[in-house]
Amino acid sequence: MTSWQDMHITVAGLGVSGVSAARALAGLGARITVVDGGDSEALRERAVSLEETEGIAVRLGDADTLPEGTGLVVTSPGWKPTSPLFAAAAEAGVDVVGDVEIAWRLRGPDAAPWLAVTGTNGKTTTTQMLASILRAAGLRTAAVGNIGTPIVDVVLSEEPYDVLAVELSSYQLHWAPSLRAHSAAVLNLAPDHLDWHGSMEAYAADKGRIYEGNRIACVYNVADKATEDLVREADVEEGCRAVGFTLGTPGPSQLGVVDGILVDRAFVENRQKNAQELAEVGDVNPPAPHNIANALAAAALARAFGVPATAVRDGLRAFTPDAHRIAHVADVDGVAYIDDSKATNTHAAEASLAAYESIVWIAGGLAKGATFDELVTKSAKRLKGVVLIGADRGLIRDALARHAPEVPVVDLDRTDTGAMPAAVREAQRLAAAGDTVLLAPACASMDMFANYNQRGDAFADAVRGLAAAGA
Ligand code: ADP
Repeated sequence: MTSWQDMHITVAGLGVSGVSAARALAGLGARITVVDGGDSEALRERAVSLEETEGIAVRLGDADTLPEGTGLVVTSPGWKPTSPLFAAAAEAGVDVVGDVEIAWRLRGPDAAPWLAVTGTNGKTTTTQMLASILRAAGLRTAAVGNIGTPIVDVVLSEEPYDVLAVELSSYQLHWAPSLRAHSAAVLNLAPDHLDWHGSMEAYAADKGRIYEGNRIACVYNVADKATEDLVREADVEEGCRAVGFTLGTPGPSQLGVVDGILVDRAFVENRQKNAQELAEVGDVNPPAPHNIANALAAAALARAFGVPATAVRDGLRAFTPDAHRIAHVADVDGVAYIDDSKATNTHAAEASLAAYESIVWIAGGLAKGATFDELVTKSAKRLKGVVLIGADRGLIRDALARHAPEVPVVDLDRTDTGAMPAAVREAQRLAAAGDTVLLAPACASMDMFANYNQRGDAFADAVRGLAAAGA
């Protein structure tokens, strides 16, 4: 048991998770200094309020040196492992941990078990589906971690939970060495955030940490061998099982799909049967292939916790996805307009492009070092046309020229926010009844928008403009 009383803790970052960790630890009697490299008006105001009301010291404008006497560093997820502060901590023999590790160490002896989810894409959706299923089973739960209320606050709250659905990013896993989940899932693995982790191997190793010490089940994606390899490498509790999920017919110890039904061959209650029917594909919203995979992963974790099949079906039916994730905006002249602004990397865009047949694709933005050859090669036959916007659109245009020269491309050569309505008009021109216009940029949004929400809203506004003009 950690004793926090009078421990001198340096918290890196005055953001949401940093402030929540600082408050919680100060409340337990630790001496806190928050450091942040910024020095804006907003940060200064936040600093004054923390110093005056909670006795938490804040040092702005210097995030590189370790405050005198520090016994532990608590970092915010965005900070790179190569940050000078951590080098200074290593030099001084001081541990660096994240908010998830703090939450794990703070939880009480009767704390709710954690069902944990990670992966390159689909984390939020799967975690929310899982929470919905657990709720349908009558369990008291919350979706936390990389979403919702900071996890430290949830762990310290008076609220009695039976189980937590915990979304974990690779950053959070990197800084959570003693976390031990009841069961955990890695949904998929594709290159992302490599600038932070340093290499694909390091990224995968951090994701794989989620399986360490699992008690009941390590859930992996049968179609993504890298996830299964991580299970094999993990050090788990005796009796913990590897459970796969697949869009095909499931083998033993797997969940999968047979004739449009989600079935479970891993956790079968009735020993006379070798499979348990869980739900219909149509119960998953939206029933796109990658989302059915998310539903199977959520079902696997819920079933590992002992949830009955009927609750899986009810929970999936009750679930509605967050905005900008394959959201159907409108049909205009027989063309469906879909907002998947959250497809901020090529792996996510590939999944949404695979969900439709004849697509006019709106793409582009900040590529974050990605290449587009594989995405374009795999999706070419579905593309009716492409409209490109954003800073790195040239990379996509070149990949299209190499692998899909027959597909008409409109390069808008624009990075202003007015580019979105123009892109939607061009897409309308390229599309015919029965086609889908899909915003799945495969890129981050920050070259043109504050975030992916604003980008998706701009798309939806433009589509509603078309609908109104046609009405
Ligand atoms: P995350 O929390 O990991 O970013 P989300 O659930 O928010 O994931 O989904 C982000 C985007 O990733 C979606 O808009 C969709 O394009 C794509 N996506 C969702 N699930 C998957 C999956 N299982 N495989 C590939 N792409 C996915």
